[in-house]
Amino acid sequence: MRTLAPWAVIAWLAIWQMASWALGSDLLLPGPLDVALRLAEDAATTTFWQRIAFTILRIGGGAVAGWLIGAFAAVAATRSARARELIEVPMMLARSVPVASITVLALIWLSARNLSVFVVALVVTPIVYENISAALGARDTALDEMARVFRIRPWRRFRLVVLPQLRPSLRATCRLTLGMAWKAGVAAEVIGIPMGSLGEAIYQTKVHFDTAGLFSWTIAVVACSIICETVAGLVLDTACSLLTQDASRTRAPRDGHKDDRDLGNACRPPVGISSSPARTNLDDGIRKGRARLTLTGVTKRFPQGPAIGPVSLAVSSGEPLCIMAPSGSGKTTLLRIAAGLDVMSSGAIGFEVDGEACRTWSSSMVFQDDRLCEQADAVANTAIALTGPAASQRSREVLESLGLTECTDRPVRTLSGGQRRRVALARALVADADILLLDEPFNGLDDKARAQTAALVRNRARYVPTIIATHVLDDAQLLGARIVRLDSL
Ligand code: ADP
Ligand code: MG
Repeated sequence: MRTLAPWAVIAWLAIWQMASWALGSDLLLPGPLDVALRLAEDAATTTFWQRIAFTILRIGGGAVAGWLIGAFAAVAATRSARARELIEVPMMLARSVPVASITVLALIWLSARNLSVFVVALVVTPIVYENISAALGARDTALDEMARVFRIRPWRRFRLVVLPQLRPSLRATCRLTLGMAWKAGVAAEVIGIPMGSLGEAIYQTKVHFDTAGLFSWTIAVVACSIICETVAGLVLDTACSLLTQDASRTRAPRDGHKDDRDLGNACRPPVGISSSPARTNLDDGIRKGRARLTLTGVTKRFPQGPAIGPVSLAVSSGEPLCIMAPSGSGKTTLLRIAAGLDVMSSGAIGFEVDGEACRTWSSSMVFQDDRLCEQADAVANTAIALTGPAASQRSREVLESLGLTECTDRPVRTLSGGQRRRVALARALVADADILLLDEPFNGLDDKARAQTAALVRNRARYVPTIIATHVLDDAQLLGARIVRLDSL
């Protein structure tokens, strides 16, 4: 809420008092002092507080119902075009039908006591629906891709990837809806006149030509609205802050919960084929066999023209492969296809362990851009794909070996470009996956960080087929990787 300048408030109160004196009639315009005295008088009675409680409960209830319905409808509409078409009709009606008509109609259906719950819910729902739909539609798809590649579990994905992006919109919507809720709720009560409500008190002032009373009750309504808005804002902010940090790091290990490392490099579904983090029966630790990823005749055509291909290559664990090519040659596209993020136009990709073909597999990736969760700290970002009690410890160790000891608990938005790059590398290196894809991984790193990172990548590549895309020959040599030129494939 915007704060008001005290001098401006005093100036307007003075203008109000002078206008009241000028008119010389309490019936037409009582002065601020008269209203203040009347408010103090009213506030000393129990009925005053009972009326406030009555109305707050109902307007609050309606607002909560409106938020739940609106948010649920927004999620459904974002997920399905059919659902959106279905939902748009009632939302359009709720948006455009006047509050007075809704109130009179509701009076026919409902008792006057609970009228404001219904009216407020009807006013709040379309606002919440519109704003959350817009925020969901505008969110960063790059982060969604990151969440898919790392198979982040739904609740964690919501907390760390989706919620931070919705947060500004939720805050603005909270302010807007509470203001509207009070306006519509009290208007409904003035029409429905439920006994013991603020709206009924306002109605009575009209009947008795009690202008000072009308001002006094109106001030009470405005104060309630401001207090509700402030409290709701604080609750929302606290909930968002708690949720968007990685709470799993402080959570005690659950009994019998197996560290994800034990699941090792199990054959998992390729990203895009199954969204659930597969838990296969390979719980016998890190895979001992020799893994091999094969691309055969892979091509990709964009509407603007062919991007790559046909490309045929094979990469095995212990023999990292460096794809060298100038910018714009299709390195990123090839890695995205291997990760299941882009669909190839033709060709085939296969994965095998000790010569035995796997139907499904998983990937870990360093994207060309970092794709980090800005509000979360470096450990939370690194551990994003892990579960289990050892997740944060394991992430911390990798970050430390990449020279980020001082930065582990800082939100990544406060890190430098090179530090952020190393967090993105750490995330890819700790994730349990069957293949490792690195897209220009050493961008922005100095020589020392480059050497530290290369050592970890070389180690990881001993167990996992690894493809590195780069246009820098030094990178390939540092990794001891086999070099292929994309145009020669
Ligand atoms: P590199 O990583 O080697 O720099 P990219 O794989 O990013 O190259 O791009 C290869 C070619 O494909 C470029 O000409 C680029 O314009 C085109 N391209 C990449 N992504 C898309 C896309 N989503 N739509 C259309 N063209 C694309
Ligand atoms: Mg690229």
